[in-house]
Amino acid sequence: MRLGVKPKSVTREDYLYSTLFDMVKPSIAVWFKCYNEPDWIYQVRTEAGLKNGIKAVDKLTWEIHEMRKKEVMKHISNEWVLFGAYFEIADWIGHTLYSDVDGLMRTYFELDKLARELKRMVPKDTLFLIISDHGMQPNEDGITGDHSDRAFWSINADLNPGFRGYNGCTLFYIGNVGTKGIER
Ligand SMILES: [Zn+2]
Repeated sequence: MRLGVKPKSVTREDYLYSTLFDMVKPSIAVWFKCYNEPDWIYQVRTEAGLKNGIKAVDKLTWEIHEMRKKEVMKHISNEWVLFGAYFEIADWIGHTLYSDVDGLMRTYFELDKLARELKRMVPKDTLFLIISDHGMQPNEDGITGDHSDRAFWSINADLNPGFRGYNGCTLFYIGNVGTKGIER
């Protein structure tokens, strides 16, 4: 069955309040989930899934991941005090390939490499935060994965930000406080 309604992601226009990206100037958010992620990402994947099945969506998800990377690298040298980027590859692959150790490892190695690359690209005193809002656990089918209420975060400073989980998406978030002159 097909409905004549195109799915629309939640974006900044849906919020009745300001987000960090609106309050911190200058800030850059690249295809950030629930903020400014383009709708076409969701739409092309849905189309690919309906036409060619889950394998096609996995392939497309990797292609979109490469596009995200390019988009992030394009903007990261611009002026900002807050930079946010979201990478969904671990979420998607965690759902579809949870039992496929090679598939998962490929994803984790890729994100590991990416974190290192991005860290090299930002100013030295950047506060660099990597956070996932949830982990994954096996579904009852023993093949696919579902969200768990565990999560991961890592920051290059001796802080205890007291993160609390919220239900949403896996993301990378890079904050830069320092040379570019944030008011304290
Ligand atoms: Zn998910």
